[in-house]
Amino acid sequence: MVVVGAGFGGINATKALRDGPFDITLIDRGNYHGFWPLLYQVATAGLGPEDIAHPIRDLFGGRPNVRVRLGTVSRASLDAHVVELDDGAQVHYDYLVVAAGSSSADFGIPGVAEHAFPLKTLTDAVRLRNHILGCFERADADPALVDDGVLTIVLAGGGPTGVEMAGALAELVGRNLARDFTHLDVTTARIVVVEMADHLLGGFSATSQRSALSALRARGVEVRLSTAIQRVRADGVHLSDGATIPSATVVWTAGVQANPLARALGAPQARGGEVAVEPDLSVPGHPEVFVVGDLAAAMDRHGARHPQLAQVAIQGGRHAARSIRRLHAGRRARRFRYHHHGIMATIGRRAAVAELPGGLKLRGTPGWMAWLGVHLVFLVGFRNRAVVLITWAWNYLTWDRASRVILPDLWPPPRPGND
Ligand SMILES: Cc1cc2nc3c(=O)[nH]c(=O)nc-3n(C[C@H](O)[C@H](O)[C@H](O)COP(=O)(O)OP(=O)(O)OC[C@H]3O[C@@H](n4cnc5c(N)ncnc54)[C@H](O)[C@@H]3O)c2cc1C
Repeated sequence: MVVVGAGFGGINATKALRDGPFDITLIDRGNYHGFWPLLYQVATAGLGPEDIAHPIRDLFGGRPNVRVRLGTVSRASLDAHVVELDDGAQVHYDYLVVAAGSSSADFGIPGVAEHAFPLKTLTDAVRLRNHILGCFERADADPALVDDGVLTIVLAGGGPTGVEMAGALAELVGRNLARDFTHLDVTTARIVVVEMADHLLGGFSATSQRSALSALRARGVEVRLSTAIQRVRADGVHLSDGATIPSATVVWTAGVQANPLARALGAPQARGGEVAVEPDLSVPGHPEVFVVGDLAAAMDRHGARHPQLAQVAIQGGRHAARSIRRLHAGRRARRFRYHHHGIMATIGRRAAVAELPGGLKLRGTPGWMAWLGVHLVFLVGFRNRAVVLITWAWNYLTWDRASRVILPDLWPPPRPGND
């Protein structure tokens, strides 16, 4: 069996099959499993990159039937039952699970690829942290740069990542950098969220959306609703209302698109480019191939698409594993049923919105406690959980965001998009 991608979908499929009669090859282009819901905390110096990543080999070490392979899958021939890596190696399979996730989408907006910072990988997060801290160093050396937007951070997109990042930046700037840069007036720094819709947090209830908006504004974040970014330049953004914002930092959290592997599989694609899977998550015409997580355009019974959430990928990975066991026993795979566990977003200390099954809505401190608990539980690895818990407790007591280091190898930062 071959599993492509060691994200939420891939590791859960592998874990669910590792005790069975299968020889499993788990392939990922990186050597770690990344916990993306906390990526923004790395970008805002709250956590270090190792705190939210776990080595894949450590998860399956000592399992003779699980082989971990570092490599990028570039092609697959589903008819020949083989995947091909970019180093030319071929890996044959009887069963295949593809869980390669998604990529950042620029929606064809000029300048995004060249000038905006994506936030999809650990490298993106560390590069962004370097860049933001570097901007404060530049302003400290030459305060005239503030008028050119060196301390202005524009967040494109008011979804959970944009909102969480804005709240964390407000704390980083208002607490830590204000103290670090004694001779710089950090009140001139601006954090601006630009959102095309007339509300933040699409998919949440109106009450949660309003609560997030007022919590952000109370923290000094500027929120521009019903406004689109039309062009990104090295020195700022042009908006649909004709305004321009001088800014040295534009963070692109506005959307995702299908991983290029969707096309390389040669399987039918849905409108957004993801693989149009059968109700059991298999590829049409290939009952032995399953696509799960962000890469799959999976529908519920009413024809609505499952959202691109960690829980969908986790449950999809486990479902693919169950289906493979059934197929192996000569039975048919069953339809995938997603059990919704709720959605949540935090704005900062004692401020979050959580919408749980059964209509339970939490805000403020209870929402924040729920957010902390859920993220700790789902973080992979005991050491990571312990470190994150201690770091959050330390941060709560002292306001310290300890990872305020500029890594020399990434400074000055290459332009984004050059990975
Ligand atoms: C910044 C950010 C914040 C998020 N916050 C939340 C949140 O708060 N709550 C929530 O539910 N969801 C959140 N999400 C979404 C959630 O992380 C995804 O829905 C989930 O990760 C999808 O799981 P997956 O297994 O499909 O892909 P991923 O977890 O992304 O894993 C894909 C894996 O495939 C590997 N890979 C990709 N291409 C190849 C290739 N060609 N060859 C080999 N390996 C490859 C990657 O290295 C990666 O390890 C967030 C996402 C991001 C980026």
